[in-house]
Order: sequence, then C-alpha cells, then structure tokens
Amino acid sequence: PLCCFQVIRCRAAVAWAVGQPLSLEEVEVAPPKAGEVRIKIVATGICHTDYHLLEGIFPNSDFPVIPGHEGAGIVESVGEGVTSVKPGDKVVPFPLPHCGECSFCLNPESNYCLKGHFTESQNLLPDKTSRFTCKGKQIHHFLWVSTFAEYTVVPEYAVAKIDAAAPLDKVCLFGCGFSTGYGAAVNTAKVKPGSTCAVFGLGGVGLSVVMGCKAAGASRIIGIDINKDKFTKAKELGATECISPRDFKKPIQEVLTEMTGHGVDYSFEAIGLADTLIAALASCNMNTGVCVMIGELPSDSMISIDPMLLLTGRTWKGTLVGGWRMRESIPKLVSSYLDKKFNSDLLITHTLPIAKVNEGFELLRAGKR
Ligand code: NAD
Ligand code: ZN
Ligand code: ZN
Repeated sequence: PLCCFQVIRCRAAVAWAVGQPLSLEEVEVAPPKAGEVRIKIVATGICHTDYHLLEGIFPNSDFPVIPGHEGAGIVESVGEGVTSVKPGDKVVPFPLPHCGECSFCLNPESNYCLKGHFTESQNLLPDKTSRFTCKGKQIHHFLWVSTFAEYTVVPEYAVAKIDAAAPLDKVCLFGCGFSTGYGAAVNTAKVKPGSTCAVFGLGGVGLSVVMGCKAAGASRIIGIDINKDKFTKAKELGATECISPRDFKKPIQEVLTEMTGHGVDYSFEAIGLADTLIAALASCNMNTGVCVMIGELPSDSMISIDPMLLLTGRTWKGTLVGGWRMRESIPKLVSSYLDKKFNSDLLITHTLPIAKVNEGFELLRAGKR
C-alpha cells in the first residue's frame, strides 16, 4: 500500500563526529528502494565495535553516522523485488551481508561476501545513497545496519527472517556479539570435546566464546580478564577457572603454559589489543594449538611476532562474526535458543531506553556490561 512508502520521522542516535557523544535526533528515514527492507528496530545491543567506530578507529568509516549493528525488529515495508521477508515479519539484520551470488558466497566454506565492508564500504547502501537525513544533512549507514535508529533500511541480503515466537529484546544479540563468540569456538576453532581453552576478555563476545567452548564439550575453560567482576558470570556460563593477568608477575602466557603443561589447545582473543593477541597466540600448544583472533585492533595498527611462534606448528586464525553465513545461520541459532540449547539471556546486563544510549557506552567503557 502507498502509505508504507512514505518518509518516516523517528528518533535515532547520531554520531556527528569522531570522539563526540551520540546525539539523540529526529531523523527522516526514506522508503526502501528495490531490493531493500525497512525495519522497525525494537531492540539493539551495544558491541565494542560501535565504540571503535565512535573512537574513530574502525576502518573506512564516514561521519555523520548512525551506529549500531546488533539489533532485531519487525519489517515495516519492502522495496520492489523483495521476496524473502514481508511487512510484519520478525527479523535480525546483520553486519556481514550474504548476497548468495558472489564467488565467496558460492564457496560453502566462506562466510565473507564480496559486498562486505572490507572490500566495499557499507557506509552507503549498495546504490551509493543513504536513506537517512537529519537537519538537511545526509547521514551515513553503519555496516548497512544502523540499529540505533527506530527505523532503518537494509539490503534484503543483510536481513534474516526469524521465528515469530522469538523475543526481540533477547535475540538482538544474534546480530553480532553472541553469534561471533559462540561461532568462534564451534566454527572457527572447531573446539573438540575434552580440550582445554583460554578466553582472553570476558565481555559480551568473550562470554559467548565460553558458552561455545562449553557446548563443544571442552573440559577446561580458563577465562582471562583484568576486571574480576566478570568472573562470576563467566563461571556461570562454563568457565572452569578465571584469572587476572594483574595477579601475576610473569607474563600471562607463561602462567597459562604452567597451568596446562604445554599450553592450551585453543585460545581466543576477544579484547582487541596487540599485547593480548600475542599472549593468546603464545598460550596455545606450540605444535597443535589454535589461536583465534576476534578482537579488533585500530585500523592502522601493525603487530610483530617471533616467527618461531608459528614455525613450530601453531595455527593463527581470525574470524568475522564467528564464521556463520548469517542469513541462513541466524534463524537456526534463534530456533536453538527457543529450544533452550543455550541461554544467551545471561549476557544481558542492562536494558536502557534509546535516550540513554550514551549511558550504555559509559557502562561498556567502565566494564560493567
Ligand atoms: P567488551 O568491551 O564488552 O569486553 C572486553 C573485555 O576485555 C572487558 O571485559 C575488559 O575488562 C577486558 N580487557 C580489557 N583489557 C584487557 C587486558 N589487557 N587483559 C585482559 N582483559 C582485558 O567488548 P566486546 O563487545 O565483548 O568485544 C570484544 C572485541 O571483539 C572488540 O575488539 C570488538 O571490536 C571485537 N568484535 C569482533 C567481531 C568479529 O567479527 N571479529 C565481532 C564483534 C566484536
Ligand atoms: Zn559487533
Ligand atoms: Zn556475496
């Protein structure tokens, strides 16, 4: 109907420039063009990557921008040619698209799509225009998702239809944080039953790694964080022990090697610092160990390592959103959640209205999330 194809005025949290707090604004959201979907966002999480964007260290970002990439909502209207979702459907939009046609999408082992941000910026929709304006200015999209808006427009191939029974305020985490951590363990590392794992960083992503290691049958899961407040939740989710690097004089990789004999089978870095990334690599078994890099370092950073760390046989891998092909995987993860295969609700620490989005970032910064 014609009524759906009108500009919507709604609230959104806009980042006008690097380093500034978000500003709650009234924005205009244009109707979806061909192949696009307009979504009423019901809930969104805050991922540390949004914080990286605000700090100006996320690669190829453009301001002003509406951040947020971990949300869930209801389809409001669809553009021409859209067939996989219709108004009223519950959906989770996601930051790593899946066009289904490029050579990467056609490779079943790949979860990266050539339309993704690391080959072509997702700061504008695929036709190189924005659907957002505010005070007469064009506002950029973030990873095509921009969930810090009451309404957003995304390409059809960046949205997954989910079970109508799913609680949107809970499954929004599947758009990034939960899927990333859980998938890093079960897809990227392929953790084996009976193995030993070390998880560096116990934020939303690291705690999800802990859940994935547990689901995969790891018998020992060591959580590492400088904030001991994170230990209780980590243990509740499956960590068998937790340590703070600040409690030791020697480097944490030496501590872990001593604790395990010859290092862990799998290590995960879910912080985003060069030092902890190298420590995670050095913590796994010199020959058969697998280290997965999840944390994002500032876009221009370089790291140098002792090549012997790899020469002896270790595997060092990265992961994007936990290796999932999100368009097909998010609906399955939602079904597993509804079947109570895991309890990702435990990751939610605070629920705030959009007007308090800056308070949410303060909580993230203070490590209280
Ligand atoms: P978060 O801020 O919630 O958690 C980070 C945790 O690391 C905190 O608990 C903090 O106390 C801890 N920490 C900080 N410095 C430490 C140190 N020196 N030693 C030990 N612990 C330390 O962040 P998050 O949302 O869980 O995200 C974690 C990282 O993952 C970020 O870098 C984020 O950008 C990245 N990320 C990557 C992907 C991907 O697809 N690869 C997806 C989502 C997030
Ligand atoms: Zn994220
Ligand atoms: Zn593709």
